[in-house]
Amino acid sequence: MNFRNFPMVPRVVFGRGSFDQLDEIISPKRKSDNAPFIFLVDDIFKDTGLEKKIPLKHNDKIIFVNSDTEPKTFQVDTLRDTIVQEFGALPSGVLGIGGGTLMDLAKAVAIMLANPGSSADYQGWDLVNKPALYHVGIPTISGTGAEVSRTTVLTGPEKKLGINSDYTPFDQVVLDPDLCTGVPRNQWFYTGMDCFIHCIESLTGTYLNAFSQSYGEKALELCHEVFLNGALSEEESRDKLMMASWHGGMSIAYSQVGVAHAMSYGLSYLLGTRHGVGNCIVFDQLEEFYPEGVKNFKQMTDRYEIEIPRGLCGALSDAEFDTMINVSMGMVPLWENAMGKDWKKVITPGKLRSMYEKM
Ligand code: NAD
Ligand code: ZN
Repeated sequence: MNFRNFPMVPRVVFGRGSFDQLDEIISPKRKSDNAPFIFLVDDIFKDTGLEKKIPLKHNDKIIFVNSDTEPKTFQVDTLRDTIVQEFGALPSGVLGIGGGTLMDLAKAVAIMLANPGSSADYQGWDLVNKPALYHVGIPTISGTGAEVSRTTVLTGPEKKLGINSDYTPFDQVVLDPDLCTGVPRNQWFYTGMDCFIHCIESLTGTYLNAFSQSYGEKALELCHEVFLNGALSEEESRDKLMMASWHGGMSIAYSQVGVAHAMSYGLSYLLGTRHGVGNCIVFDQLEEFYPEGVKNFKQMTDRYEIEIPRGLCGALSDAEFDTMINVSMGMVPLWENAMGKDWKKVITPGKLRSMYEKM
């Protein structure tokens, strides 16, 4: 048996208002006055109080990035090239401020500032040779677990696949629940459900072990408090969802996700459907595989009056269905986790097509 030896985020600060400590946290990591910190920031924070609190010094730079589409390899390469051209010295570090999109971009840019070629060359498992630059993750919406994970999910010319490596995890994470104030309700729900779905897929999967279970159960308990049956203040809800995301991410680190993720990758690849909402669209139809989870999911959508989009696949051609089905069936470890080595006895192209047709 070959046990996998996973890196974890070595430093984390948690607490409402902890963002104000950022200067103190990163200053010791400054390599020289010429080596800037690059802040990749979701552009919804432009001209807000958060922008004003970013502790810029010397030639530090904020780059605003739009998160309407998920990260692309060419976008990562362009960001890297722009930074290299503008500054003589390599940066002291890269910070990502935003949701999963910005955190993944920060991880990828930090890797690509230290490694040659295109980020597309590193999509896969353990292809990165040199340590990334110092990188910091600062989530402003909770659920994806990107703040703890060993991957950065990128869409490249040929595939949507993560850069999974020991150099991917952040060196530092700042968990300040106050930064999640003001997330629109639908988005809050969709991204939060990513965490809930991570828990269900991990806890019911064949890869489950005591390590994953311990994190997954805690994350699920926190999700239930936030979305299902808790009576929390908004502050408590933000605190708990932030920690649920963290634990949910830890849970899948040592296991795997399952059917919802495998199918939502297909939607995302063909239609550009974003991760959180895509998972919800799929999960809504997965009663057969996750009866208890889907029952709770429907209770949560009712409680918060969330509309799950429908009718996405109604007008697709046969070729388009085939593309989605191929992408989805390519996610072998996810299917194996969900239903064991014989998953192909249940999951056939015809079965997937009939499931996609309902979405
Ligand atoms: P996101 O980063 O795409 O952001 C979603 C929306 O919320 C955006 O419109 C953004 O502007 C807005 N937003 C973020 N913070 C806000 C705030 N405080 N106030 C108001 N609006 C705010 O969403 P996400 O769901 O966090 O991330 C999805 C991405 O994460 C996908 O690209 C997915 O592939 C990736 N992902 C990565 C991992 C990983 O382990 N690396 C895991 C799951 C998902
Ligand atoms: Zn996910």
